[in-house]
Order: sequence, then structure tokens, then C-alpha cells
Amino acid sequence: MRKRRIAILGSTGSIGRQALDVIRQHRDLFEVELLTANNNSRLLAEQAIEFDANNVVICNSDKYTEVSEALRPHYTKVFAGMQSVCDLVAGDETDIVLTSMVGFSGLESTVAAIKAGKTIALANKETLVAAGETVMGLAAKHHAAILPVDSEHSAIFQCLHCSPQAQIEKIHLTASGGPFRTWTKDRIASATAEQALRHPKWTMGNKITIDSATMMNKGLEIIEARWLFDVSPDRINVVVHPQSVIHSMVEFADGAVIAQMGHPDMREPIQYALGYPERLTLDNRKLDFAELGSMTFEAPDETRFPALALAKEALEKGGNMPCIMNAANEVAVDAFLHGRISFYGMSELVSRCMAGVDFVSHPDLDCIFLTDREASAKAREILSIN
Ligand code: MG
Repeated sequence: MRKRRIAILGSTGSIGRQALDVIRQHRDLFEVELLTANNNSRLLAEQAIEFDANNVVICNSDKYTEVSEALRPHYTKVFAGMQSVCDLVAGDETDIVLTSMVGFSGLESTVAAIKAGKTIALANKETLVAAGETVMGLAAKHHAAILPVDSEHSAIFQCLHCSPQAQIEKIHLTASGGPFRTWTKDRIASATAEQALRHPKWTMGNKITIDSATMMNKGLEIIEARWLFDVSPDRINVVVHPQSVIHSMVEFADGAVIAQMGHPDMREPIQYALGYPERLTLDNRKLDFAELGSMTFEAPDETRFPALALAKEALEKGGNMPCIMNAANEVAVDAFLHGRISFYGMSELVSRCMAGVDFVSHPDLDCIFLTDREASAKAREILSIN
């Protein structure tokens, strides 16, 4: 295939670094057109040099000089600020945009890339949680393909290739259950950030690791799946599967269930999105079924993990409610990481914001941005922080 020109938004984060590892193994297939980072100027410059990136953006403008100095002997062009990200992703020199930045802040540049008709390798699930209907509508209008990078959604995408014409009877979204799967509610109530950050199966960034501990991550993924695959919420079933070998499953009308499996390693779904429809080689650990021995499954417990119920409620309510929930959750996770609230303080804060921010049943994109600001402000007001 012709060399694909890749833009990685959030290249210094966990997904960004793993994407560059995939590209490192296939330098003949990919060209790095653009790398962006919020603050990690040193790693951004190192990546730009290693991969001969044509452009980099450091979103924090205070760090522009640092990046610019580091890249002076090289021909990489250096820019600063979010507007530069939006301008560059729309440029003619980019084929695929990997959206691996964290949280709602990824929406603006994702929309810019979609409007330019780019293929999106979507790792930023909050984009679809906050504005799923609008984003998918824009993607259809501008003929921008959206390829999932989230491991569960990549699995579903891969399973669907077995029967591309068939209607989906059910999606079985697997969840590891996180570090507190076997803990009692009392014990979870006093869990610390340090304990919550010890994920048993996946190595990920802080935000998503806390979301996995509360199972809000699975709630966000239900909403993501609803929009990506255009399935009604009642057809999405969550099943806890602690071994994290089955990344998700699709059930068809005849009762056949197709599962996608592999060792938990984010580079697999990343290579699938970047190389699609090809499959690239990957120097990852392969499955040994005899060593694995058994796989187990259990129903999720919404009493111990109330975030899951909140996400279902937000999806059912629709409109800007998932955006309110997402914004409150971002503030909640940050507050928990800084020791300001307890583990269950997170879902309490989300619940209060969902009840206290104005509901809009048919929000446009401007309304979504406004809702995000209002819900974040409300959450901070409740926490009495600014
Ligand atoms: Mg996932």
C-alpha cells in the first residue's frame, strides 16, 4: 500500500506512544505527518526527531520555545496552540488522524478532521459520549470513515466483518471489572487513588484507569458503541470477563456469537485501525490457550459500581445528558486523583450534576460546548474549587 500519512493527536500519551511503536515496526508503510502534545515538550521533540515528523504542535504555548529550540537542527515545523491542531489536521498532507488525546478537549480537533473528510482512528471515546449523534452525522456528511481504536469497539468492528450485511442482535461488551472487582462496597468506599491506579490487565493513562476502577469507562463505552454501530441501547450487554482475552462479541439473529480475542495489548487495535483493511505483523505476545486454561464471565454489579447505571441513565435520557455526565466525570476523576473526594464521591458528583445542569433534548455542537463548560463549572462549584 502507499505510505499512509498519519497525524497523532496526543502522541506523548499512552495510546500515542503505543501507536508510534506500531509505526516503528512498519516504517515502510507510514509517514508521520503531525504529532501533538499538551505539555510533554521533551518527549514530543524526541518523537519528532525519531520519526522525522513534518509538523508538531505543543498545545501549551508556554512551551513553544523549548520545542522549537530542540527541533532547530531538524526540518520539522513547530506550532503552538489548539487552533494550530485544528488547522493542521485539515491539511491535504494527512490521510489518517489518530485521536488519542484525553477527554472532551479532543472534540474540537476531531470535528475539524471530520469536516476535512479525514479517516479517523478514534481513541478519544469522550468525543462520541458528549456529541455522538452530531459527530456521526458530520462523519456521514463529510464521508469521513471512523475506525475504532478502543479495544472493545475494535473487537466489535472486527466481528462485524464476518457478516457485514446482518443486523446486530446484541453486542456483548466485555469488562475486566477493574482492580476492585472482588472488593466489598465498604472496602471500595475507602479506596485510594493509588489503589485505583493499579489496573490488573491493562496499562493505560490515569484518567481511563480511574474510569475502569469505577466502571464509568464501560458506561462511556456503551454510549460509544451505541453511536459507532448505530445500535439501540437495549441491544448492548455488559459482561465482566476478568481475563480480558475476549475483547468483545457480536451476537447475530441465528444465535451465533462471534468473539475477537488476544492478549490485552492496545497495539493490536491500533494496528488494525492504522492498517485497515490490512492486518500488520506485530511483535506482541500471542495467545496460548492451554496456558490460559479457562475464561470466566459474570454480571456487572451496579450497586458497587453505580457509574455504570448513571451512564445507562444518561444514554436513555439522551440530548446533552451524556455530555453533562462526561464533564462532571472529568472533574470528579481529577478531584479523586488529587485526594479531594472519595471513590464514591465521584459518582455522587456526577449524579448531582446530571440533576442540576439544564437539559437540552436536541443540542447542536455549540450547545454541546456550552454544556461541557456549564457542567464542569457546576461540578467545581459543588466541590468548592475554581
Ligand atoms: Mg476500552
